[in-house]
Amino acid sequence: MKIEIVDLNFMGTEHVIASFLLLGDSSAALVETGPTTCLEHLMDGLDEHNVSPEDVREVFLTHIHLDHAGASGHLAELLPSATFYVHEVGYPHMVDPSKLLKSATRIYGERMEELWGEARPVPEDRLKVLEGGEEIEAADGVLAAHYTPGHAYHHLAYLEPDSDALFAGDVAGIRLPGQSYIRPPTPPPEIDLDAWVQSIELIRQIAPGSLLPTHFGCFDDVERHLGELEQRLQDWLLFVEERMDGEATREEIAEELKTKSDAEMLAEGAGPEETEHYDLAGDYPTLTDGLMRYVSKRRESA
Ligand SMILES: [Zn+2]
Repeated sequence: MKIEIVDLNFMGTEHVIASFLLLGDSSAALVETGPTTCLEHLMDGLDEHNVSPEDVREVFLTHIHLDHAGASGHLAELLPSATFYVHEVGYPHMVDPSKLLKSATRIYGERMEELWGEARPVPEDRLKVLEGGEEIEAADGVLAAHYTPGHAYHHLAYLEPDSDALFAGDVAGIRLPGQSYIRPPTPPPEIDLDAWVQSIELIRQIAPGSLLPTHFGCFDDVERHLGELEQRLQDWLLFVEERMDGEATREEIAEELKTKSDAEMLAEGAGPEETEHYDLAGDYPTLTDGLMRYVSKRRESA
């Protein structure tokens, strides 16, 4: 099987959202659909690799967030032979996206349409549920599903054993091509940092040769990458806890997190343009909301 990265050119910007095209001799598969607003780029990507819509037999979703799976309903119509694989907890939201859209609207408000476009339901008979631990034949090879909660409760990562590549969705963070800096995507409502650290440990045990985060690309320095992500998750948690104790507002915390993180990114060699591109995959107000909500929830249940 051959793996190709399709750049979905999200918001007219390259290297923010990827879909991964798996090419076999007789069939093809996709990991991630991207949002509906990027559908044209996805279909162009298939075309560029001489894949006809009928050739795509499997579509693997790491989780149901709109930047990863938003185009699924449309694709169910455009890819007549494709079965969609999703974690069992995400399944009902693929069949009926109304709750998912409500939750996303709380985060993105008026920008919903511009960012994501319309999310249509996926017919039940086109969906298959996974819980992690399965091996699924695809593109003349297999993908192994691994349950990797933390960014979302229902998150899966997929290992392709021949190339030893792990399609990591958001569990391995945001890292754009040519960069070493890893930004943890921590949006509301359901990040769980304890589960996330355990998922990082699981990935260490799987020991893939490369990580393919949806935001964006393919990276071989797996140990360093995971180490930096884990450290930053812990660092951000402590930082937000401390600032909440100091009664800082959400706006203040987001601004301080940005200042602190931009400085770290610059120190790792990124330029101002790169920090903006990272923002398209996860901006500080949203990431701060997720962290503050997580801290509050944890304190309430303690
Ligand atoms: Zn994402």
